[in-house]
Amino acid sequence: FQDFGVQNEPILGYREGSTERKELAEELRRTAAVTEEVPIVIGDEFIKDGEVQHQVMPHDHGKKLAKFYYASEKTIQKAIQVSVSAQKKWDRTPLEERVRIWEKAADMMAGAHRQRLNAATMLGQSKSVVQAEIDSAAELIDFFRFNVFFLKENAKYQPISENPTITRNSMRFRGIDGFIAAISPFNFTAIGGNLAYTPALMGNGVVWKPSDTALLSNWRIFNIMREAGLPAGVVNFVPADGPTFGRTITSSSDLAGINFTGSVPTFNWLWNEVGKNLNRYKNYPRLIGECGGKNYHFVHPSADTRSVVTATIRSAFEYCGQKCSACSRMYIPRSLYEPIKQGLLEERSKLKVGNPNDFSIFTGAVIDNKAFDRITGYIKGAKNNAKNKILGGGEYDNSKGYFVQPTIIETVDPHDKLMTEEIFGPVLTIYVYEDRDVMKALSLVGSSTKFALTGAVFANDKGFQQTALEELKTTAGNFYINDKSTGSVVGQQPFGGGRMSGTNDKAGGPNYVMRWTSPQSIKETF
Ligand code: GLU
Repeated sequence: FQDFGVQNEPILGYREGSTERKELAEELRRTAAVTEEVPIVIGDEFIKDGEVQHQVMPHDHGKKLAKFYYASEKTIQKAIQVSVSAQKKWDRTPLEERVRIWEKAADMMAGAHRQRLNAATMLGQSKSVVQAEIDSAAELIDFFRFNVFFLKENAKYQPISENPTITRNSMRFRGIDGFIAAISPFNFTAIGGNLAYTPALMGNGVVWKPSDTALLSNWRIFNIMREAGLPAGVVNFVPADGPTFGRTITSSSDLAGINFTGSVPTFNWLWNEVGKNLNRYKNYPRLIGECGGKNYHFVHPSADTRSVVTATIRSAFEYCGQKCSACSRMYIPRSLYEPIKQGLLEERSKLKVGNPNDFSIFTGAVIDNKAFDRITGYIKGAKNNAKNKILGGGEYDNSKGYFVQPTIIETVDPHDKLMTEEIFGPVLTIYVYEDRDVMKALSLVGSSTKFALTGAVFANDKGFQQTALEELKTTAGNFYINDKSTGSVVGQQPFGGGRMSGTNDKAGGPNYVMRWTSPQSIKETF
């Protein structure tokens, strides 16, 4: 990493008695004590008008964390106009000046603002302290610093000039004429920061629709960027009802791109709307989407069972399985079934589910009632299906918070919906294959879902590792050998998948920034 010129933000430990723990406890108290009113921000106008909404704490849904407003179609149109006109000036701002704002913001996030961001993520998105720290501290900061680094690295390349006394060739990065709509998810605060601010870094104007259920943490990012010096209007903060927002942005002739993380149906719908409106646009809008997964852990008979157990528990159940990368289906050889099953059940029974104010929890609640109903629907379905057996967990309760206990199910049907559909909750399904059928089992991995986001193979047999690399090549954009399918690190494992998992533009990698520029080649003749 040394020549890289940039390093990943270290993760803090929050030990009992540590300064960071005291500061965070204080921020949690302060954040929980009020219902913060969050406006729509367009340019330098703060708008407190529109259908009133609330962000509640998922683990204590009677408590309102934030009050906010849904922008109407007219307000969204205004945000588009402001963003388009701000872009023209912003794109003329020298790169060095732009980059300084991101560097300053990253330092603010790493320093004085760290615990405010973590507190909003813990209370609003129900993350444990560890999960908040790797998200709204480390990954968010990494996105900011690495994208600046990648921008500089990409800018180093200049086309050759064969005879420099006669001609000079060069290339410059322009923002895209129009606006970029950023539509971000609840599950990572860092993704909101990346989706909205990377296009902005590259000279674009942005209309950002944060997730309703990540509102406060996203609002805090927005404020840090203003404080760091981002001119008003470059990024506009526009909470809105999804369909209204989608219709309004796709019917604007100024749409230059959509930076999206969310569900397949929503991304498909947006894509279709763009298709219908294609003749209106000045540019072909760039569509970047990350849409989910049905991620697997495939265990070979040569695997180390203890590391399989630890990795699977973490991947399937950290943050209640609400990571696009979470393992939700597992293939186990008969010969390792007993030790793995016992290990998983034992570890599962130790997981503490509760309120993130308690620093000892493993995970909080699932995000909202809709998620609770969807996830528990799968659990209820499994209870009523003779092909499936609940091995552990299966309990839930939404009286105070949306709590679902980590659940392990065994199925005899590798094509059961538990093995093929994205659940996005703490539900792991196991399928046991006969050792002699290992190749047949391997072929199930790719053929049983339309997703291809992440996957992991556990094997000490080097030959099998190679076989898996080849056989599973198209089944995951992020592939792990002997490690869990979650936890990609910016600059280390650029993230994204193919098939219905998205456009695989690799957030946290060098090419991502390039998707948000319209480069211009210039030939000067002397
Ligand atoms: N990058 C995250 C990981 O590897 C997942 C991001 C997501 O859920 O979209 O775990």
